[in-house]
Amino acid sequence: MRLYNSATRAEEEFIPNEPGRVRMYTCGPTVYHFAHIGNLRTYIAEDVLEKYLRWSGLEVERVMNITDVGHLTSDADTGEDKMLKGARREHKTVLEIARYYTDAFFEDCKKLNIRKPDTVVPATSCIPDFIEMISVLLEKGYAYVSGGNVYFDTSRLQEYYVFNKHNEEDLLEGAREGVEKDESKRSKTDFVLWFTKSKFEDQELKWDSPWGLGYPGWHIECSAISMKHLGDRLDIHCGGIDNAFPHHTNEIAQSEAYCGHKWCNFWFHVLHLNSDSGKMSKSSGEFLTVSLLEEKGFDPLAYRFFCLQSHYRKSLVFSWEALDNAAAAYKKLVSRVAAIENEGSVDEDAYEKYRTDFDAALSNDLNTSLALTALYDVLKAGISGAAKLALVDSFDSVLSLDLLSRAERLRKESAQESGLEAEIEELIRKRQEARKAKNWAEADRIRDCLKERGIALEDTPQGVKWKKI
Ligand code: AMP
Ligand code: ZN
Repeated sequence: MRLYNSATRAEEEFIPNEPGRVRMYTCGPTVYHFAHIGNLRTYIAEDVLEKYLRWSGLEVERVMNITDVGHLTSDADTGEDKMLKGARREHKTVLEIARYYTDAFFEDCKKLNIRKPDTVVPATSCIPDFIEMISVLLEKGYAYVSGGNVYFDTSRLQEYYVFNKHNEEDLLEGAREGVEKDESKRSKTDFVLWFTKSKFEDQELKWDSPWGLGYPGWHIECSAISMKHLGDRLDIHCGGIDNAFPHHTNEIAQSEAYCGHKWCNFWFHVLHLNSDSGKMSKSSGEFLTVSLLEEKGFDPLAYRFFCLQSHYRKSLVFSWEALDNAAAAYKKLVSRVAAIENEGSVDEDAYEKYRTDFDAALSNDLNTSLALTALYDVLKAGISGAAKLALVDSFDSVLSLDLLSRAERLRKESAQESGLEAEIEELIRKRQEARKAKNWAEADRIRDCLKERGIALEDTPQGVKWKKI
């Protein structure tokens, strides 16, 4: 598979360290609020990647953290803890908030057919692992204690800006937002590994550590959780593009300082979904959630389809109109699958040809819109219905649009509908007979009976017409 690697800023052949087995890490959600559909765009793209790797015969071991501590309102280690802020907003404890929004996140994932990673680890369950890693970083001289906090010393690195997209101005953003500068840092790129002192002394969750009662910085959790479950050679690390700096940059710094060698080969970053008014954010007012889409009558899978139509490395603008179009296209796709009769046999050559096309699309830096084209090509191909259905089934194990089950549901619904239509026609015929026989009571009875079932009759010069009320 050719995949774009943010670390080298090039498309490369994706080759796992161990043949046949992929170790994949995903930055999980910060569970202080519902996930917005932008966050979920990232998880949909990662889900397609994981499923495609499995589809092509690789074993995938995937780990995701849940950020339930340490993520501050500014990524530059300043501001208030997001979890604490969520707890205050809802008058609940941090752990209640974490549990509630973790469950809500996986509910949303389920609705979008995003597979739950094999291993999901809340940061608060790994405090001893963070402490161990920080201790080693201190021993190796990559960290220092200052003003009560433990900091990573970025001056020890040969290269800090691995993704090379940043300038000093970005780092000053915090200052521009009016957040106080951290005077305890030796250099402004240094970041906190463990806090015992912060402006926000009312941090609810604190743990004992060799440096005093405190709590971990945000970045350490992903390094430690990943190493704990996937070892010190990671094949691929995923996240939204906003995580590249400072989060992933800091993860690389501390992980490689800790293990003394290259840590992760591939960095997979998904570009943002933006609303037409700009950036999507959980912290600012009303935001777009899966529940909101449902309230507005959208099938969550229509949103998945909407995401698959575009490339993960292009930013995507959300609008209700664009979602409407995607929903209509998705509905049409399902009805086209429903129209396929399961006849004939599966011709192996044809089957392989179309699978190769689908494979070529996804192995080309996960080009999901081309993969959809490969699917449409199958629908219009001159091959047996059985072969088409087998191919749809195979492709959908990656696309996860529930095509076969939705098509089956549609077929049942239309069968019921046509059964109902036949029944109505029969009752209308009987009513006409009754009228001919001047049996007005029977004719009225039939009319009322249909009315009760939600069917209205209209006598027109062209005959009797009916409609649903
Ligand atoms: P968070 O819950 O804020 O930690 O974010 C969860 C995931 O969503 C991370 O991988 C982020 O990089 C990603 N993300 C945040 N905002 C967006 C967005 N507007 N579009 C796509 N992904 C996003
Ligand atoms: Zn992370």
